Amino acid sequence: MTSFRTSTGPKNRRLLALALGVGLASAALGTASPASARSTATIPAHSATAGYVGSSEKTGNKAFFDAVLKSVAKRQAAQPTLKVVTVYYNTAQAPSFRSQISSAASIWNSSVSNVKLQATTGSADFSYYEGNDSRGSYASTDGHGSGYIFLDYTQNRQYDSIRVAAHETGHVLGLPDHYSGPCSELMSGGGPGTSCTNRYPNSTERARVNQLWANGLTKALAQVAKTG
Ligand SMILES: [Zn+2]
Repeated sequence: MTSFRTSTGPKNRRLLALALGVGLASAALGTASPASARSTATIPAHSATAGYVGSSEKTGNKAFFDAVLKSVAKRQAAQPTLKVVTVYYNTAQAPSFRSQISSAASIWNSSVSNVKLQATTGSADFSYYEGNDSRGSYASTDGHGSGYIFLDYTQNRQYDSIRVAAHETGHVLGLPDHYSGPCSELMSGGGPGTSCTNRYPNSTERARVNQLWANGLTKALAQVAKTG
């Protein structure tokens, strides 16, 4: 879907206004999103999310990590002898951020040893999306058990874009948000402010990911069951 950037053109605005009008007539749609927010129509619906800034929503991150793990587990079951777990991602829906996503994957791959991130153009364990959302970037699930990461244009101009991608990718590997942490922590996200450009997980974060993915998926799955 490369067309959603132009989907707020005059014609679509009229259609949207018509649709909203019909909606207002038939139901109280007082909280309908503004037209500009509808340009992200191809992005899956979501409820609980784990954002780059804001209040920590543990349930959002848990649901996301759970979705990624289930997908990995399904694939891993076919190749039970694999020691290092590979998590596949697709960037087809986030074309503007391919280089940042690739950098974020390289950063994680050079920082941890028990799990690897691998790009694919085919079936993936999770996907990246891009667009405009007033809540910024986040990790979420689509309501059908698939995890995805959303990268917000405005936020990626305000904050270091590779840090944003590396932070969101940290959720893929099972790390929760910790906004009160220092800039040296990747999972402090937007907490330390826009001047923070650290793109690497600190030693604690690296150890936590390695521990979580030790012995394949066993520990990661147990962790999800425990926090559920
Ligand atoms: Zn986050």
